[in-house]
Amino acid sequence: MTPIDLTHISVADNHCHGLYHTQKPKDATAWHRLFTESDDPGMSREHVATTLFYRRLIREMATFLACEPREEAVLAARQQYTDRDLIRKFLHAANFAVLFVDKGYPPTELTLPDNELSDLAGCRVAPMLRVEILMQHLIAEHNTLASVIEALQAALNDVRGQGYVALKSIVAYRTGLNIRTWDTGDAEAAFAQARHEVQEKGSLRLAHKPLLDTLLHVTFTEAARQELPIQFHTGYGDTDADMLLANPLHLRAVLEQRKYRAMPVVILHECYPYTRQAAYLAAVYENVYLDLSYGIPLLGYNEMIEFTRAAFDVAPFSKLLYSSDGVGVPEIHWMSALDGRRILGQVLGERVASGELSTIEAEAAAVAVLRDNAVRLYKP
Ligand SMILES: [Zn+2]
Repeated sequence: MTPIDLTHISVADNHCHGLYHTQKPKDATAWHRLFTESDDPGMSREHVATTLFYRRLIREMATFLACEPREEAVLAARQQYTDRDLIRKFLHAANFAVLFVDKGYPPTELTLPDNELSDLAGCRVAPMLRVEILMQHLIAEHNTLASVIEALQAALNDVRGQGYVALKSIVAYRTGLNIRTWDTGDAEAAFAQARHEVQEKGSLRLAHKPLLDTLLHVTFTEAARQELPIQFHTGYGDTDADMLLANPLHLRAVLEQRKYRAMPVVILHECYPYTRQAAYLAAVYENVYLDLSYGIPLLGYNEMIEFTRAAFDVAPFSKLLYSSDGVGVPEIHWMSALDGRRILGQVLGERVASGELSTIEAEAAAVAVLRDNAVRLYKP
């Protein structure tokens, strides 16, 4: 089997996050915290450095920064650069065509503005609107459910006109992907609880299922009307998410509704470990797309090969989209771009060896997944 060389292809990262103004963690534990979904302090202190993801990161960084492949040497080499130079160096080397940025996290005051990120990366930056944050603001501002719904419809009336190319939902982190249709009474009761939380705490973490589900249906109606893609966090995440309810098969009730078929649904993070289930959905619903992230979830090489094989074997490759899910520091965006090209090159090389694709078809599939499918879908 000969791997296909994809190193020259520019990449559209269809789901990533902003980069911190300040790139220098105060110590090794703070640095480790960037590479785990766990909040347990002992994980960052003791265990993160023994994941295959982290070992691969240190070795790749050492090669790139021309230093010893040891954590201390890599962190010292990284210190030599200004924050801006560090970001520019990694992002330029990754060769991006577009960065699709989820504006919901980290908080915007901690991250570079889009125009600065665009300058440093040397590519377009296309922002995406996280709907739960918008909903939380509207619930805090309005004292009836009817007025929240009206305000949400107004806020989502022309999403592209506001500069966003897609919506993003973290309902899997809050109440699960089993989004239902609720009676008005249930939604009103949940709204009253949410308003009570706003009054008690001064802020809201929207995890009131009948309310969130109801507002999501309002969102889907607006998205379908505008043929606007929506990304869903699915699968592997921090422990806020109940992984049983992060299984994409729970989206069936939404996907079965004809009135939402004009809304492209992007299932994020290869839905790890539910990649096969998500790839099945992309195979049977025209409007479902599957994101393949090579940064986060923080996996070893073999699992990335396996999910890539599963995705290609089940879903049409016109439905597969490359991403990093990189957050905060440029290393994840960068290493994911390297790994994504390498893994797609290997898996597509295998498909040529099996006689399923010609070399020319395999190269075209790689360009589609790495860049062109996302550009066609989001129209950045
Ligand atoms: Zn993300």
